Amino acid sequence: MADRPEAATIAGRLGLKAEVVADIRQVFAEINADADPVERGKRTLLLTANRGAWLRQCPGTRYYTCCNYQILHVGTFCTMDCAYCILQAYFHPPVLQYFLNREEMVLELDRRLAQPEIARIGTGEFTDSLIWEPCTDLNPWLVERFAAQRHCILELKTKTVAVDRLLALDHRRKTIMAWSLNTPRVIATDERRTASLDARLAAAARCVAAGFPVAFHFDPMVIYDGCQEEYRRTIQRLFEKIPADQIVWISLGTFRFMPDLKEMVEARFPRSTIVYGEFVRGLDDKMRYFKPLRISLYRDVVDWIRRYAPAVCLYFCMESEEVWERVFGFSPSAKGGLPAMLDTAAKFHCDLAPEVRWQVQSTEATGC
Ligand code: SF4
Repeated sequence: MADRPEAATIAGRLGLKAEVVADIRQVFAEINADADPVERGKRTLLLTANRGAWLRQCPGTRYYTCCNYQILHVGTFCTMDCAYCILQAYFHPPVLQYFLNREEMVLELDRRLAQPEIARIGTGEFTDSLIWEPCTDLNPWLVERFAAQRHCILELKTKTVAVDRLLALDHRRKTIMAWSLNTPRVIATDERRTASLDARLAAAARCVAAGFPVAFHFDPMVIYDGCQEEYRRTIQRLFEKIPADQIVWISLGTFRFMPDLKEMVEARFPRSTIVYGEFVRGLDDKMRYFKPLRISLYRDVVDWIRRYAPAVCLYFCMESEEVWERVFGFSPSAKGGLPAMLDTAAKFHCDLAPEVRWQVQSTEATGC
């Protein structure tokens, strides 16, 4: 990969000098030897090739309702630093990687885009979608690629405000610009180097003005004294800035974590209190808030969102059918399944081809 012109371009845009490494294990060994390998991994950019699949199923579990999302694997890890970030413990070692062999991505992506079936594809699961904006042409390229077809949507999910280069693109509403949202307190204490709530909403408003559909993810919601009032005000600020009819979906999920993450959060975020709460181990081995606490917060948040946006597609990321029933009064299976609910919302907002195959039995004009 060292001879790729893009490697020099990326290094130049970052003001860095690229160093060629003969053996990738050398990079991993240096990162692992650091006192804080996670931080070191965030400051080391490995330009390399993706030797595996570019399109992957989002790793849900059979115990919780999954949305059948596809991940476009463009790179790994993140320059921002959230206390709860699962990626800290997911990669061994964690390292910022960007994949240069785009010609192989094109083959796989184009095969999928040619199929006459809806797909919801995102780049913001193993990395933040927009951290690559300052140094690569990836996102403008993807937005234009998706704009050239009418079967699939791209979701770019971020906690940054790096939207400048995307606003003038001819996106044809095939790209959903999405932000993770949280209360200002959680952002300040547990989301280092991310944009503030107001800055994220301002960036989202600019995208709406440029005709993009938008989405928001209240995930992970954190339970602490006074959190209800702070989530209420956060939702109020969201709808002061963003018209409800431009929102494709809003997801909700309370904080959950693999037990191993606790030690890492305690060591790297000594002021964070997120790992101290009433947690129980779930069927997937993750620690989750005690169910009545989750349901109580969800009910409040759903109620506040519904006051501003009665028809918006609201869904849970990785919750049980029981929680769906107790908060929404229905389970996704009653509406054809969660994937079908989200496909309905995408079809409604993103000008997908009328003949496109989807999984919905009965359509509802306002999405799910
Ligand atoms: S922005 Fe997302 S990917 Fe980046 S550190 Fe935070 S949770 Fe992890």
